[in-house]
Amino acid sequence: MISEEEARRRVLQSVGSLRERIVPISEALDCFSAREVGARLPLPTFDNSAMDGYAVVASSSKKGTRLRVVGEQPAGIDRELRISPGEAVRIFTGAPIPAGADAIVMQEDTTREGDEIVVNEGVDPGEFIRRRGCDLAEAQKILGRGERIRPATIALLASQGLADVTIGGQVHAAIVSTGDEIVMPGRKLDQGQIYDSNSTLLRALLQACGAFVTSVEHCPDQPERLIEAIQRGIKSHILVITGGVSVGEHDLVQATLRSLGAKIDVWRVAIKPGKPFLFGEAGGCAVFGLPGNPVSAFVTFLQFVRPAILTMMSANDIDLPKTPVRLTVDLANEGDRAHYVRGRIDKGTFVPIGRQESHALFGLSQSNALLRIAVGESLKAGAIVDVQTWD
Ligand code: AMP
Ligand code: MG
Repeated sequence: MISEEEARRRVLQSVGSLRERIVPISEALDCFSAREVGARLPLPTFDNSAMDGYAVVASSSKKGTRLRVVGEQPAGIDRELRISPGEAVRIFTGAPIPAGADAIVMQEDTTREGDEIVVNEGVDPGEFIRRRGCDLAEAQKILGRGERIRPATIALLASQGLADVTIGGQVHAAIVSTGDEIVMPGRKLDQGQIYDSNSTLLRALLQACGAFVTSVEHCPDQPERLIEAIQRGIKSHILVITGGVSVGEHDLVQATLRSLGAKIDVWRVAIKPGKPFLFGEAGGCAVFGLPGNPVSAFVTFLQFVRPAILTMMSANDIDLPKTPVRLTVDLANEGDRAHYVRGRIDKGTFVPIGRQESHALFGLSQSNALLRIAVGESLKAGAIVDVQTWD
């Protein structure tokens, strides 16, 4: 049995970032930038009005002043207008500021009378003018290498006139679930059989990481069938196998992988749940063998598969988000494996949930956080602890 840290180190050492791609910005959501990007344009790009109103000289536009309207400046075209004290230009939101003007009087604070306005509310210099570069300076960094592209990031790239962005590679992932007892949902269930919940769990987790799922297949515990399924699966960048990685006579995954020339880097890790976790490499494919118990599959996916996928996608932050919470009960780990306790964050507290056993899928479904308790660690109710979240 190896430590969790060592297992993670071995997994991450054996995967590298995939070839980067250039995609339209609209297709880059939740991908990771493969480059650092700097601003080509300042924001705002030119001084412009924040309001529909009148561009004025503030010092000659006190309350009650009458100003002559000498022109109109709409958004979209710069008429290169100019004003002097005692004059105003009708202006609209987003329109460039006429030369000589240093403030905008809101339309609501004026009374229009023919080609004149009466100022009902005075303004200070600079009021309602959005200055060039006050939000973003030219050449300022707008996107870091490995940073996740979020909706507002896409908008920022668009504001720069960038139609495309260079992102990390797309991870192709195959899933193989194993077990003679496993039946696909929708089929009839005989005595002793259970429905396959891991395939759909893993598909969802893979998709949530941004991987493209190339195939999902089920395979009984038969060496010939497993060989074929693995041979198909290793054509993808990663293959995630569930079940059959433990020590029973029907656990054929490791021996089958070896018979196909796979190099096994990790088998049996000091975590609970998830001890039988396996990782290896076959024909350039990263192969993950996750235990069949659903909670074990879930925990080992998040701790080992997810960071590997994010590394392949060029992400710089490969850890799960962490949130500080107040513990509601005493918890201690007297075992010899790091324990991932499933629980629920509720108004800043963490409450362990359901049966803390590796088959307990319902409890997992009600949880939204994982608390890692190291070997020998003892935590008291009321303590503030960091928990991992995934939703
Ligand atoms: P194994 O890792 O093959 O020894 O399986 C451990 C436990 O997980 C057994 O109780 C299996 O029935 C269960 N299991 C295996 N594969 C799946 C699956 N695809 N969906 C749900 N449970 C599974
Ligand atoms: Mg099995």
